[in-house]
Order: sequence, then structure tokens, then C-alpha cells
Amino acid sequence: PLVLGIETSCDETGIGIVRGTTLLSNTIASSMDEHARYGGVVPEVAARAHLEEMVPAIHAAVAEAGIRLDEIDAIAVTSGPGLAGALMVGVGAAKSLAVALDVPIYAVNHLVGHVGADLLRGEGVDTDAPLEYPTIALLVSGGHTSLLLVRDLVSDVELLGETIDDAAGEAFDKVARVLGLPYPGGPQIDRVAATGDPAAIRFPRGLSHQKDVAKHRYDFSFSGLKTSVARWVEQKRDAGETVPINDVAASFREAVVDVLLTKAVAACTDLGVPRLLLGGGVIANARLRQVAQERTDAAGIALRIPPLSLCTDNGAMIAALGAQLIMAGHAPSNLDFGADSTLPVGLIQA
Ligand code: ATP
Ligand code: MG
Ligand code: FE
Repeated sequence: PLVLGIETSCDETGIGIVRGTTLLSNTIASSMDEHARYGGVVPEVAARAHLEEMVPAIHAAVAEAGIRLDEIDAIAVTSGPGLAGALMVGVGAAKSLAVALDVPIYAVNHLVGHVGADLLRGEGVDTDAPLEYPTIALLVSGGHTSLLLVRDLVSDVELLGETIDDAAGEAFDKVARVLGLPYPGGPQIDRVAATGDPAAIRFPRGLSHQKDVAKHRYDFSFSGLKTSVARWVEQKRDAGETVPINDVAASFREAVVDVLLTKAVAACTDLGVPRLLLGGGVIANARLRQVAQERTDAAGIALRIPPLSLCTDNGAMIAALGAQLIMAGHAPSNLDFGADSTLPVGLIQA
């Protein structure tokens, strides 16, 4: 089926068009620059940007795919989780388009969409072996840090754990701010960490102590780490010493990467799942990719990382999930669905 996907859960207005698992176009307009001076995504600013970008993005995606809008078989849209106001813009646009074109609509889960990104094949997308089940998925971005057990993309996805406070990307953004680096912090930390010593400072690995692991084996926590970095930097500044930014960045990055992969690999080992899929914007992190490869190689786990353009929020992954639901014979969503900012992972389709 020819499916148009609409994604507006955060600051990317993503419109993607797929035919089954073939990627035809993936248009992304981000309002990231507008959030820079606030040091993080401002919900109202994101929602207004979606409204402005929506129609041009749809036209651009249709043109790039080389199709006509009236050829579309179905619309897929992110109904949650995400920022309520931002989601509502996408949901409203998707419903309007579905009614105007008289085609079915599939309201889908954003996190499951991130996993669906791995199914896509096309120009510039590597065509390795298809996604196999079960697989563990580690999704890390500015808004989420989740570990999923995917037994079947369209019918059986289980949340193993998630962050109990900040998301990993959010921690990168906050620590960058502490170090006086601009937003978004991830790429900046990556840049300065390249010449730093990751073993210079031992920052805490959240929820890794024996007593925490009992209750939070697959959960993450990054707010203590952020506070620890801030305090360390403050003490240096108070003492009139220069802050070794490169070492702090490298040591902080090491702590994040270590805890993410320790827990993801533990999930694979505990549950006997020899496959790990990564997704989300933080996957851009150079050290995360490197350590992921090393640790999965050592543990005999097959590692999958979709291209970065499909790891950050995008409409193609939503269209891909919609296409899977159609091909599995699932009925479309009723037009009365809404935006659900806390949609649980277990609800693949709203
Ligand atoms: P969502 O949470 O809904 O997926 P988002 O917009 O918050 O959406 P993305 O756009 O996928 O997330 O990713 C942006 C986040 O990724 C930011 O927090 C940014 O700092 C982080 N990031 C980007 N590049 C890197 C990097 N090289 N290393 C670490 N973090 C990075
Ligand atoms: Mg973003
Ligand atoms: Fe996302």
C-alpha cells in the first residue's frame, strides 16, 4: 500500500511516503533553531511551527515521491506519546487529509514507529537482512529513553524500562549548557569529547547499584548524573581552576553510553534475545555507536542501526508502521481518536 505518514510529536514536522517497505520520500522540517535560545523544546513554539510547516511539507514529500496525492491508499499519523499541542496539529491535518481523499487512517504509536524505521528500504538506505523477531529496541532521544521487547511490530511490543526522570538527549542538552556549549548539546558534547579523557572523572551510572537494579533493572535515570556534573564543574570554578571541558564532556558521555548499553545488553542476555536495534536522535552519538558495536560483538548480539535520517523523528517511520498494520489486515482507526501525550507502548494503534 502507498501510505503517507505524519509525525509531529516533538519539534520535527515529518512527512514520509512509503510503498510497503519501500521508502519514497521523507521530508523533515525542524523548529530546533527556534528553541535554541530556550535551551530545550518549547511546546507552543513547536505546535505553531507544525501548523506553518504542515502543508508545504506534505507538498514537498508528494513531489519528492513522484506521486499524486490522490494515489495515496492510507494516512498514518502519530497520535502519541509526545507533546499534546504538537501532536494535535498532526492529528488534525491527518484527519482532514483522510476525509478529503476518502482514505482510511491509522493512528499509531510514536515509539513503535521508531522501531518500524528499521523496515524501510530504498535509495540511500542499506538493504541488509529484514528485521527479525524478537528484538530488543533501545530508543534514545531528547524526549525518550526506552527499552522495548518487540515480539511483533504490529501486535506485540512490551515496555521493559524507561527513564524515570530526564531523557538521555535532554541530559546531553543540560550538561552542554553547564559547560557553556550551545543547544542542541549532543553534537557539541560529541565534538569536545573527542579530545577528552573518558576515564578522567568517574560520574555516576544511574540505577546501577544492586538495590536499584532489583526494582529498576531496565530503567534509566540521568538527573543525578547531570547534577553530579554541574556540581563538579561548580567546585572547579569556585576554586578558581579552569574547567577541563573536554575531559568533563568525555567522562559524562562515557557514563551515559555505559549505562545505556549495560542495560540494553543485559535485556538481550536475560531474555535470550540475540538482536538489538537502536533508534532516536541520540544514536548520532559517535561513542554510543562505537561501544554498541563492541559490546554486542562481545555478547554475540546482532546490532542494527537504521540510517540517522530514519533515527531522528520522521514521517517515513510512521508510514512504515501504518503499511505494516495494513498488510497484517488491521482495521483502520475510528476518526474520533485524539492526541494522547502518554500513549503506552503496548497500544501500537489508537
Ligand atoms: P523525540 O524525543 O520525540 O524522539 P526529539 O526531537 O527530542 O524527539 P531527536 O530530534 O530524535 O529528539 O533528537 C534530538 C536529541 O538528540 C537532542 O537532545 C540532541 O542533543 C541529541 N543528540 C543529537 N546528536 C547527538 C549526539 N551526537 N550525541 C548525543 N546526543 C545527540
Ligand atoms: Mg527533534
Ligand atoms: Fe522520537
